[in-house]
Amino acid sequence: MEQFIGDTALANGYTFEANPKKTGKKVAIIGGGCAGLAAAYQLLLKGHDATIFDEREHLGGMMRYGIPGYRTPRDVLDGEINRIINMGVEVKMKTKVGVDVKVEDLENDYDAILWAIGAQSGRPLPIAGADAPNCLTGVDFLAAFNEGRLKLVSEKVVVVGGGDTSIDVASVARRLGHITNVNEKDRPENIVLGHTAHDVAASAVRQGAEVVLTTRAPVEKMNAAQHEVEDALREGVSIQGCLSPTEVIKDADGRAIALRLQKLEDDGKTPIAGSEFDIKADLIVSAIGQTGDVRGIESLANKRGLMDADQHFQLKDKPGHFVCGDIVRPHLLTTAIGQASIAVESIDHYMKHEDLRRRPKVDKHHFDLISKLREAGLSPSDYKPGEQWGTNESDFAIHNYEDRSRQEIIPSDKLFLVHFPFTPRFKRKEKPVSSEEVLGNFSERMVVYDNESAVEEAKRCMSCGMCFECDNCVIYCPQDAIFRVKKDKRTMGRYVDTDYNKCVGCHICADVCPTGYIDMAMGD
Ligand SMILES: Cc1cc2nc3c(=O)[nH]c(=O)nc-3n(C[C@H](O)[C@H](O)[C@H](O)COP(=O)(O)OP(=O)(O)OC[C@H]3O[C@@H](n4cnc5c(N)ncnc54)[C@H](O)[C@@H]3O)c2cc1C
Ligand code: SF4
Ligand code: SF4
Repeated sequence: MEQFIGDTALANGYTFEANPKKTGKKVAIIGGGCAGLAAAYQLLLKGHDATIFDEREHLGGMMRYGIPGYRTPRDVLDGEINRIINMGVEVKMKTKVGVDVKVEDLENDYDAILWAIGAQSGRPLPIAGADAPNCLTGVDFLAAFNEGRLKLVSEKVVVVGGGDTSIDVASVARRLGHITNVNEKDRPENIVLGHTAHDVAASAVRQGAEVVLTTRAPVEKMNAAQHEVEDALREGVSIQGCLSPTEVIKDADGRAIALRLQKLEDDGKTPIAGSEFDIKADLIVSAIGQTGDVRGIESLANKRGLMDADQHFQLKDKPGHFVCGDIVRPHLLTTAIGQASIAVESIDHYMKHEDLRRRPKVDKHHFDLISKLREAGLSPSDYKPGEQWGTNESDFAIHNYEDRSRQEIIPSDKLFLVHFPFTPRFKRKEKPVSSEEVLGNFSERMVVYDNESAVEEAKRCMSCGMCFECDNCVIYCPQDAIFRVKKDKRTMGRYVDTDYNKCVGCHICADVCPTGYIDMAMGD
């Protein structure tokens, strides 16, 4: 659905509008990956100004320099980034904060600083021989490929990992292939490390590379998404589980020629004595984890090269500094985007000199009826202090509404499931790539829904916790106490109203509400 919505928005040129009411406050965002971009968007919605500093040439972070284009297509990425920047975000590229710009200067020039610098440093293999020139990290390998510098790999590639990055390295290696009689300057490690540039003409005729991916976990328990694992296997990557690398074997010139591995029990932890064996390799890529590149800002980082955040995503002991995304803990795009939104709420309170309220237990974006009422011009009237009973006839309070999403997720037993017959998910079509077709194949694999399938899929939404205007409560209330709100007062989440003079508290409305929207206490 998200792919469909995003593509539709881009095709129709939908834009985001910044809040025209400017606060005069400005925030420096360090890092223009998904966390920094999401934060800029949220800040502009609140009327603040934002400047993104990024050391790279282009915005996008790992969405551009890590994940290959057949998974995050660059035209879509550019379209989404432009939509945010066009709200009025200032951008300073090729600027590494801590090296090109001092943190103290930012502290003087901005009202707050948000660190969204991601985890740019790949971890090398912690074993003997890993200093060989043809032992690379997955982050460096993918950056060289995504920058268009790396155009081929070696004949025998061994990738160590098990997460998304290792799958991307292996899949890219299968797509690039290798050439025989490779020149010294065309060796992938020289390209990745920026020593030379690939000569396209010389690398024109290529063959598939043998790619082995080793992981400590059993293959079925690898960290990478199941779908990505299946694609890699189909594309000819050999994935071998329950293995731990112990040594890189080098030749007389110091180049790696094999990776020595020890077999592990099915728990992916316990070594099996005497089980060591070698896999031949011309290129070894380590994709076993990442940490932050904190050169010039070491004092802000913890021992692991990451940054410590509190529950408000403030940097520990650094007032005015906030942090979000992979630099807190390398995880997922959605995690980084969600954290950015919480960090911006904290920055907003900080700049307004307000207390940072306790974060709710379920700390997710949720429907906010008061904002919706404001947006629809239906804000409650001002409250005049004094004792007043009941709320259904007064418009100073939000009647009939309790914001439960701050405490709980609506469990399925609160839904009236009889209204939701099982409808299988409408799966997107894919363009699976076979092992024979993979060489040189960089096209997107997931085919977006057409209009009809998107509507069908959207209909499966159970709208849990939200009124979807089914009229059940109106029909089943024995007292006719529930009635539809007049059309000019209606908006999303404000569809039915209760006359408390008629209600006898029988609970029928709550029982028949399919979505769990009506929550009634038992009166004890
Ligand atoms: C190969 C790979 C595959 C992945 N696959 C998936 C996937 O399938 N699904 C998923 O959800 N997640 C995936 N992830 C994880 C996801 O990419 C990250 O969680 C996400 O990109 C984190 O966003 P971020 O904004 O925190 O950091 P980043 O995207 O890393 O962006 C940080 C930005 O900060 C800039 N920067 C760093 N230091 C400085 C500095 N000192 N000054 C100025 N700029 C600086 C960098 O140039 C970069 O642009 C993958 C990651 C990798 C590496
Ligand atoms: S509790 Fe019973 S009487 Fe009251 S509104 Fe619900 S269905 Fe009607
Ligand atoms: S409150 Fe529940 S039962 Fe009433 S209209 Fe909304 S979804 Fe239907």
